[in-house]
Amino acid sequence: MAHGDFHNLTVLAHPLIGHKLAILRDRATTTRDFRQLVSEIAMLMTYEVTRDLSTEVVTVETPLERAEGRKVAGKKLTLVPILRAGLGMVEGISQLIPSARIGHIGVYRDHETLQPVSYYFKAPSAEADRDFLILDPMLATGGSAVDAVRKLKEVGASRIRFLCLVAAPEGVRAMLQAHPDVPVYAAGLDRELNPHGYILPGLGDAGDRLFGTR
Ligand code: URA
Repeated sequence: MAHGDFHNLTVLAHPLIGHKLAILRDRATTTRDFRQLVSEIAMLMTYEVTRDLSTEVVTVETPLERAEGRKVAGKKLTLVPILRAGLGMVEGISQLIPSARIGHIGVYRDHETLQPVSYYFKAPSAEADRDFLILDPMLATGGSAVDAVRKLKEVGASRIRFLCLVAAPEGVRAMLQAHPDVPVYAAGLDRELNPHGYILPGLGDAGDRLFGTR
């Protein structure tokens, strides 16, 4: 469903996604369960996010006769997790799209300025018919997301979608202003950011909860 003023945003309000997101937010959820849930939600989201991928007609031989089918067309779809929390979304999506290529973008947020600092970029070549899914569980200020999209566009990518689990209005707005052509998909749209740039109610630090580093 497109969301109010944010015509770049689709909130995937499916009962299973909502259920898993509620458990994910719970501070009592263990690292192991958190990791599993991030993966599962990302997988469920992928089903919707890829709804309009272009396809082409193929002919196959069934054991009985020739049949027409449709296969996803174009270059292999590419997942681009923003390090490090985006890594948690890769496994679930790869189960649905095993042939996906995987790039990586290293951006961290300076805790004082809240500005993105870029330290790593590696992605497959960006031919015109390659779809990219940028992954980050949290779309907070939007700084890292805007920067990641800019980097992919610099190397020629034009078909980019952004997937997060929880979005803040500030981040969705930042993406809309900087990259109105990039659709944003979220499992939930939260209320606001706190002064430290954390999403409220949110789920805390996604990287720390995924990797047990707190
Ligand atoms: N990154 C996180 O991990 N959590 C937030 O709430 C915001 C950014």
